[in-house]
Amino acid sequence: KNLLHTKYLIIILGILSLVITSGVFMISVKKLKRRIDDSRKEIERLAVTDELTGLYNRRYFFKKLDEEFERTKRYGHTLALVIMDIDNFKSFNDRHGHQAGDAVLSEVAGQIRCCCRESDIPARYGGEEFAIILPSTSREGASSMAEKLRKKVSESRIKDYNFTVTVSIGISVLTPENAYSPATLIYDADSALYRAKEEGKNRIVIAI
Ligand code: GH3
Ligand code: MG
Ligand code: MG
Repeated sequence: KNLLHTKYLIIILGILSLVITSGVFMISVKKLKRRIDDSRKEIERLAVTDELTGLYNRRYFFKKLDEEFERTKRYGHTLALVIMDIDNFKSFNDRHGHQAGDAVLSEVAGQIRCCCRESDIPARYGGEEFAIILPSTSREGASSMAEKLRKKVSESRIKDYNFTVTVSIGISVLTPENAYSPATLIYDADSALYRAKEEGKNRIVIAI
C-alpha cells in the first residue's frame, strides 16, 4: 500500500513540475515576444525620424505628401503645405559655431511641434528647412498657423545662447480645382518661400 502511495506521489510531483516548467517557459516566451515587438516599433520610429530634431525625416515627408495628396483629391478636401527656412542661418553658424546652429534647429523644431495639430505632419526637409503637411486645412487656417509659428519663433530665445532667430515661410494650398501633383505643391510653396526671403525675411507668403 505504501509503495502505491509513493508511486502516486511521484506521478503528481512529475505532473506538477511539468506544469510549472511549461508555465515559466510560456512567460519567458511572452516576455521575449514583447521585447521583439518593442524593438520593431523602435526601429520603425527611427526609420521615419530626424535624429537632431525628433521631427519626421524627409523620406517620410514625401511618402505622406503623396498619400495626403491622393486622399485630398479623392474626398475633395483642401490640403496645405508649409515650407519654412531659418533666416541668415549660415552667418549664425559661422559666428557662433555648429553647436549653436544645432541648438537653433532644436528650438525651432520645438516651436513647430507646439503649433501643430495631432493630424499635421511636421518634418525636417533639409539642413535648416522644415516642411509641414496640414491635412484638411484651408488657406486661412494654414496662414494663421504659419503666422503664429513665425511669431513664436521670433520671440523665443535659444537655450544656452540667449539669441533669437527668425524664419521665412512659404505656403501652398491644394484645392479640388488645382489638384496638379505633389511636386507642384512643393514648387509653389518653395516659390512663395523665395518671395518671403526677397521681400525681407521673417514673414509668410501664400502662393496664389
Ligand atoms: P537665408 O536667410 O537666405 O535662408 O540665408 P541662410 O544663410 O539661412 O541660407 P543658406 O542656404 O545660404 O545657408 C544654410 C546654412 O545652413 C548652411 C549651413 O551652414 C547650415 N546648415 C545646414 N544644415 C545644418 C545642420 O544640420 N546643422 C547646422 N548647425 N547647420 C546647418
Ligand atoms: Mg536654406
Ligand atoms: Mg536659411
